[in-house]
Amino acid sequence: MLQNPESATAAITVAVRVRPFVGPAPSPDSAAGDGGVKKIIHVVDEQVLVFDPADPNKRNRRRTYVHGARRHKEIQYAFDRVFNEDATQQQVYEGTAKPLIDGVLNGYNATVFAYGATGCGKTHTITGTTQDPGIIFLTMRELFERIETASADQTIETHVSYLEVYNEAIRDLLNITSNESLDLREDDVNTRVVVAGLSEHKPRDVNHVMRMLIEGNNNRTRAPTEANAVSSRSHAVLQIHVRQKDRAVGVTSNVKMATLSIIDLAGSERASVTKNQGKRLLEGANINRSLLALGNCINALCSDRPNHIPYRDSKLTRLLKYSLGGNCRVVMITAISASSIHFDETHNTLKYANRAKNIKTKVEQNTIDVAAHMAHYPQLIADLKSEVELL
Ligand code: ADP
Ligand code: MG
Repeated sequence: MLQNPESATAAITVAVRVRPFVGPAPSPDSAAGDGGVKKIIHVVDEQVLVFDPADPNKRNRRRTYVHGARRHKEIQYAFDRVFNEDATQQQVYEGTAKPLIDGVLNGYNATVFAYGATGCGKTHTITGTTQDPGIIFLTMRELFERIETASADQTIETHVSYLEVYNEAIRDLLNITSNESLDLREDDVNTRVVVAGLSEHKPRDVNHVMRMLIEGNNNRTRAPTEANAVSSRSHAVLQIHVRQKDRAVGVTSNVKMATLSIIDLAGSERASVTKNQGKRLLEGANINRSLLALGNCINALCSDRPNHIPYRDSKLTRLLKYSLGGNCRVVMITAISASSIHFDETHNTLKYANRAKNIKTKVEQNTIDVAAHMAHYPQLIADLKSEVELL
């Protein structure tokens, strides 16, 4: 689980959410259970699930299941949190993003990302619908409540940006006047990656955020594939910048700044599954390139002595440089299907998530000590004066 906000290192928190099972109701008379579709996930408790559970009463029938001929062994996985099919948006929010909010208000960066194959519930979890909103809405609602109830001697400001990475190009989802890819650069002190020309917005209230999200999601790049009629081919990144300042102590107060990134990744399925060709295949290759790069960065960060982290291998990982290994707390929400139709994708996704559990990130508070900052000025002014006198 999340560590003490003051600690220097924190492991990535990995949660798994199982989407509701879709398929014919299992029939006890059918050898395959239900015409070939079988439930391949059994949630044991809030932290453990079993992949491809063997049913002792039907053990010899397993060979007739869709994937039965491959002789799978059931595998037990443990994660920080496992949410079953019945979990509500609120429960998922409380177990993933909510514990990050105190840290964000205290100057610690944080990232939440949803990973998984198309159709497994990433967008449902991150955005949801107006009737059943997801993590972004619930997080922003809490942030606005905190702003309203902040003590009179504090000011908290937030602004947001929303972009997509599609085919290794970055587009502003809230300002699509141009189709040109936006450039990434690091700021002067190497503490954050800046997207040049990205629009930033100051939402009035949480409903305003939801309208912006809907507009932004309509601008997301979609295309028909065999895996899903309207699958998202892009990675969507919402960034919420929070800046907090103590008013009472005037100019000598510290300013705390942090960015919370909430990311809905493109589907992780392989190109072969979607039988993509031509343009779609190129998209698939680029999506996989970003996700492969993300996996490679995760692997490198997991090693005992991470000396080279290949952030530069994709736009997504360049963008997320300080959101993975830098000053950041990370929560990965892994969306999986419990249907045997998605056996390979679910297996691959679980393996990816299991590997991610070992990342340790170094977290530091982003504060500007205004007093120390101001202390430079008298000396600077004196130096300038003496330079002028010398002229
Ligand atoms: P992804 O973004 O991973 O491709 P979606 O979030 O779009 O998948 O989910 C596909 C469909 O399944 C959507 O219609 C969504 O509303 C529904 N869905 C996914 N997860 C859930 C859930 N936990 N509860 C109810 N409906 C869900
Ligand atoms: Mg989606």
